Amino acid sequence: MNSSAQLETPKVRWDLSALFSGLDDPKIEQTWEVATQRAAEFAEKYRGKIDSADLTADLLAGAISDIEALYNEVAKPMGYANLMFSTDSADPKIGAFMQKQRERGTSLSVTTMFFELEVQAVPAHVIDPLLADLKLAGYTHYILAARMYSPFRLSEPEEIILEEMANTGSRAWVRLFEELTANQVFKLRYPGRLDVKEMTQQEVLTMLRDTDRANRQAAADSLSEGLKELERVLVFNYNNLLQEGAVEGRLRKFEYPEQSRHLANELEKETVDRVIRLCRANYGLVERFYTVKKQILGLPELTHIDRYAPLFESEEQVGWDEAKQIVLGAFGSFSTELEARAREFFDENWIDAEPRKGKQGGAFCSYNTPDTHPVVFQSYQNRMDDVMTLAHELGHGVHASLSRAQTYLNFHGTLPLAELASTFGEMLVFEKLVSTATLKDRLALYADKIEGVFATVFRQAAMFAFEQRCHLRRRAEGEITAEQFGEMWQEEQQAMFGDSVHLGAQHQAWWSYVGHFIFAPFYVYAYSFGELLVLSLYQMAKKEGPSFSDKYIHLLQLGGSRTPHELMETVGVDLDSEAFWLGGFEAMEKLVSEFERLWSEYQAETK
Ligand SMILES: [Zn+2]
Repeated sequence: MNSSAQLETPKVRWDLSALFSGLDDPKIEQTWEVATQRAAEFAEKYRGKIDSADLTADLLAGAISDIEALYNEVAKPMGYANLMFSTDSADPKIGAFMQKQRERGTSLSVTTMFFELEVQAVPAHVIDPLLADLKLAGYTHYILAARMYSPFRLSEPEEIILEEMANTGSRAWVRLFEELTANQVFKLRYPGRLDVKEMTQQEVLTMLRDTDRANRQAAADSLSEGLKELERVLVFNYNNLLQEGAVEGRLRKFEYPEQSRHLANELEKETVDRVIRLCRANYGLVERFYTVKKQILGLPELTHIDRYAPLFESEEQVGWDEAKQIVLGAFGSFSTELEARAREFFDENWIDAEPRKGKQGGAFCSYNTPDTHPVVFQSYQNRMDDVMTLAHELGHGVHASLSRAQTYLNFHGTLPLAELASTFGEMLVFEKLVSTATLKDRLALYADKIEGVFATVFRQAAMFAFEQRCHLRRRAEGEITAEQFGEMWQEEQQAMFGDSVHLGAQHQAWWSYVGHFIFAPFYVYAYSFGELLVLSLYQMAKKEGPSFSDKYIHLLQLGGSRTPHELMETVGVDLDSEAFWLGGFEAMEKLVSEFERLWSEYQAETK
C-alpha cells in the first residue's frame, strides 16, 4: 500500500486475438455463412418433428446437440462485438458492427425459433418419459428450464415479430442509454476555482469517494448537472422500456412484472420475496453503521455525498501489480485451483484495466462460450475499492473458467448464482487484507466492506422495490415524469437509512444512470440474493475447513447445468430454508459489531 505519490494507472488492455483479429477478420463472415447454412438444414430436418407424438430421445438429443453447436459458433461474433463496443462506445464503426451482428443473430434465430417453441409445446405425456433416457442426461436442465416458459409462449409468427422488432425496440433503447451515458461529459467545478474539468461518469462517481467533502459536493453537482442534460431522453427512454415490458407481459399473460425474470432465474416468487422481506426487515443494520460513521467523520449530519466518504484523510493507493499479488494470494490461501485459474487472466492478457475515454463505466466479466476464454473489464484507478472490484470480477472469472468443463447450454450459470463466486472472491480478499492491517486500516477496511455489502444487499433490495413501483405505475397511470421517478427513488433509498443519512434533493435524479433498470429489468435482486447467500455460505466454509473448498470448486464446475436449488444442494444448502438466509444477516451483524468494537478501541487508543 502506498499513501504518498500518485501512482500511474495500469496500461493493461485485453488481447482478444484468440477470438478474432479485428472487425474485418474474414472468420466473422465465414462463421455467419456456415451458421446460416446449418440453420436452414436444421429447420429442414427437425421442423414438425419435435412437437410430435413420434418424438424419440434419440431425435431430441440429436437436435439439441446440433442447435447447441450452432449457438456456440454465432455467440462468438456477437460476444466479440459487445466487447469491442465496451472499450470504445464512441466509435460509430464499432456501433455499426455490433448492430450488424445483432441483426444477423436475429435472422438466424428466426430460422431456428420453431425448435424451442416445439420443445415448449410438446405435451408432457410425450416428452416426460424421454427425460429418463441417458442420451438426454446432459440436457434435462435445458429442456425443463425451457418448458417453464411454455405457458407464456406465443405462436411462432408472433414470436418472430417480437424478435425482429427488438433490435429497433428494446435493444435500441438499451444502446441509446449506453451510448449517451458512456459519452456524456460531466463538468466538474472544483471549489474555489474557475476552471472546469471534463470528466466521465465513472470518474465523477469515483470522486464521490473523495476525502474532501467540498470535492464530493462538486462531484455530486457535476453528476446531477450532467444527468439533468440527459433527463428528457433518459426519462423518455425508461418510460418506453417500461411500456414495452407491460405490452409484452400482457401478450404473454404474465401475472406480475418481474415474473419473466424469476422464470429466467429459475426461482419461485416466494423464495425471492422472502429474501427481499428479510432485507427490508434488517434495514436497521444500515442505520447502526451510518450512526457510527457520522461520529467518525465528525459531521453533524450525513447526506448522499457522505455515503461512500472514506473514514480517514490518508489516500491509500494500491498499484496494479500489488493488487494482482493480493488477489492471487487470497485466492490461493483458499484453493490452489482457484489461484491458478485467476492467474491465467493476467498471464494471458484477459483483463482490460486501463481507464480511458469512450470506455463504458462499471466492471464485468464476460464469458461467452466454453471453447473461448473469459475476459475481465474494469477501469482500475489504484483505489482499495478497485482491488475489491478486481477480486469480484476475477471471482466471476474463475467461475467461468471452471465452467468451461460444460457444454454451451450448460455453461452460463443461472443469474441468482451468477454473483456467488464474485462475492466469495471478495470475501477472501477482504479477510486477507484485514488479517495484516493496522487498527486504523482495519477500521477503514471494515467500513469499505460493510458499505460494499450494504450496497449489494440493501441498496439492490431498495432498487428492486423502486423498479417494481415504476413498472406497476407505468401500467396503472401511463407515462411517469422525471419528478415522479425521483420521488419513488428517494423514498425507497431513504427507507434504508432511517435517520442516519438524509439524502438531499439532488439525489432524486440519480436513479437515471443505473444501467440495470435499462438492460436487465429486475436483475438487481440477484445481487442481494448472491451476497446474502455467500455471506451465509462463507460461515459454513469456515466451520467446515479445507473439505469445503473441493465442494466449492465442484459447484463452480457445474456451471449452469442444474437449477439454483439443485446446485446449492451439492454444498448442503437449502435455498428455501429461512435459517440459511438468516445466516447472511447474522454475518452482516457481526461485521457491524466488529466495526463498532474497532471504533471504541480506536477512540481509547487515540485519547
Ligand atoms: Zn458481479
